Amino acid sequence: MTEIERHEYDVLVIGAGGAGLRAAIEARERGLRVAVVCKSLFGKAHTVMAEGGCAAAMGNVNDNDSWQVHFRDTMRGGKFLNNWRMAELHAKEAPDRVWELETYGALFDRTSDGRISQRHFGGHTYPRLAHVGDRTGLELLRTMQQRIVALQQDDHAETGDYEARLRVFAECTVTELLTGPSDDPARPGAVAGALGYWRESGRLVLFSAPAVVLATGGIGKSFQVTSNSWEYTGDGHALALRAGAELIDMEFVQFHPTGMVWPPSVKGILVTEGVRGDGGVLKNSDGKRFMFDYVPDVFKGQYAQSEDEADRWYDDQENNRRTPDLLPRDEVARAINTEVKEGRGSPHGGVYLDIASRMPADEIKRRLPSMYHQFKELADVDITAEPMEVGPTCHYVMGGIHVDPDTGQSRVPGLFAAGECAGGMHGSNRLGGNSLSDLLVFGRRAGLGAADYVAGLDHRPDVRPADVDVAAQMTLAPFDPPSARPGGADGADGAGENPYTLHAELQRMMNDLVGIIRTESEMRDAQVRLGELRTRVRQVFVEGHRQYNPGWHLALDLRNLLMVSEAVASSALLRTESRGGHTREDHPGLDAEWRHRVLVTRLARAGESDDGSDAPADPVLPQVVVEPAERVPMREDLLALFDLSELEKYYTDAELTAHPGHPA
Ligand code: FAD
Repeated sequence: MTEIERHEYDVLVIGAGGAGLRAAIEARERGLRVAVVCKSLFGKAHTVMAEGGCAAAMGNVNDNDSWQVHFRDTMRGGKFLNNWRMAELHAKEAPDRVWELETYGALFDRTSDGRISQRHFGGHTYPRLAHVGDRTGLELLRTMQQRIVALQQDDHAETGDYEARLRVFAECTVTELLTGPSDDPARPGAVAGALGYWRESGRLVLFSAPAVVLATGGIGKSFQVTSNSWEYTGDGHALALRAGAELIDMEFVQFHPTGMVWPPSVKGILVTEGVRGDGGVLKNSDGKRFMFDYVPDVFKGQYAQSEDEADRWYDDQENNRRTPDLLPRDEVARAINTEVKEGRGSPHGGVYLDIASRMPADEIKRRLPSMYHQFKELADVDITAEPMEVGPTCHYVMGGIHVDPDTGQSRVPGLFAAGECAGGMHGSNRLGGNSLSDLLVFGRRAGLGAADYVAGLDHRPDVRPADVDVAAQMTLAPFDPPSARPGGADGADGAGENPYTLHAELQRMMNDLVGIIRTESEMRDAQVRLGELRTRVRQVFVEGHRQYNPGWHLALDLRNLLMVSEAVASSALLRTESRGGHTREDHPGLDAEWRHRVLVTRLARAGESDDGSDAPADPVLPQVVVEPAERVPMREDLLALFDLSELEKYYTDAELTAHPGHPA
């Protein structure tokens, strides 16, 4: 039997980005014993990469801003698919969460009269992003790490042990969640803990905890061109599915319009929207500012129609309309795609993003220090002297674990989720800056939800030894020769499949077939290819030992990547309309009948698998099923925040009868 290190906590937080740390702080402040586990180094999470800022309607730069305006912008950005309760909580609570960070020690950039400064960003009516140059995420995470250390110091003063109530397990990857018996009358199938491994030693670790918060971030590594780094393999999404939770909105994947396309050393790396917020403009190979040609009907009247007006807007927002360079990301990404396709792209398949000709070099370096250094050092591109070549890069997943908006709890008792791995908040398209505020608002709520849940328990579900054995076997399975596995057969060359080859094939296929523009035939093709990959992923074989073995780590990630890719492809096939981060060439318009429907991904039950057999679910790679459900209609007072004429662009007539201005 494999030796397993064991720990027991009240709350296990998986992920140490902004959402995970904010959840951990909240649960610890409520007096619980909390473990934070992260796959990478502590302090290295996506949150650190966030450059533009954190959206909160503080009204510091324009006092017309309010939670209602932020709520409206968020719903419009998401094309009215957002979970409206989440969007409401987010808009109302974000300013307090930003202030709270300053009480932890953050220091945001200031206005001339000493208030937290706020910058423009796509889709936000007013300057709204609190920022620290272009290193906002770094400051956010650094501050929360500092808060965690402060809490550990309090614990040391009280107990003599820094880690008495809050411990960080860095470079430790969770591979499986463990649940209690499904016939527990009080909480069937409640979460009981998780199994993982130390990246360095390969030793297995078991965490027993009655509440688990998933905060594992995104799925970017399913795609070939992405701004995401190696950790974003959809682990939380897949862990939740396997534990019995549901995912929603998985067809909505955000392709950020401005990833670098050249030189190769920086391909996919993000150029923050802050570049356009601060005056940078998009141009095609004819030198034309083409975004004026791409303002869609639903946004007509809200964006400048001439370059002069757009340029005046930077200094006078009251009397001018914003530049269409700052349309929501999905619109800009599609516009770039069209320019390139129609032959007006840059030499390497992108378009130009020009800030060099728009302001003095010193000003660019002062406002966008990371952008300047990143491109100078990694690619020898001087953004103060020449335009960048940019194009869409897979950036963010709007879809995620279906949670209760107020508590963050999934349908599995005790299993919570927050941040990018949770779904609903951003609808079909996230506005820039709304993720950092999402992490703070819903990270705190999930920590609170978990603490309340634990406080209400009369007994903790036991981790069952048999489940631990199965989870351990699956984690170590890639070391077994495929021919030795139950029902196994060798890979093509008789030696099993190579995880790197499979990953590259998956990424290329997702980019080519399920990327920014989709068609039915391509997605059916993708499903066939995913089926083939599924068979091959079962045959993945790695050599060597458990000590720091990246091939093994990737072999385990592949299971998750495959499951989330299946969820994305199947959802994208079903949604026969184009909206936000889902564009169907064969169904180009919005369809009001799809607005009120949500696509839910869950595990297949017996009899629902591809072969129709009643065989129990495959524990290694259980199949997923996607099916539509009705969205909860928006509360009337929130609906009334929008003009009927605007809602008519999105809603069916029947739905609009709930609007107070409706004549019926
Ligand atoms: P992350 O910060 O992604 O953290 C996930 C954590 O989970 C990590 O600690 C990881 O190690 C851990 N983890 C994952 N799987 C496992 C596992 N199996 N076991 C253990 N641990 C695991 N948003 C904005 O609002 N404003 C911006 O300006 C902005 N700029 C961005 C720039 C870039 C380049 C990128 C990539 C994103 C940007 N975003 C921005 C988006 C935003 O940064 C992310 O959506 C957000 O930080 C996600 O936070 P999170 O807490 O959900 O997860």
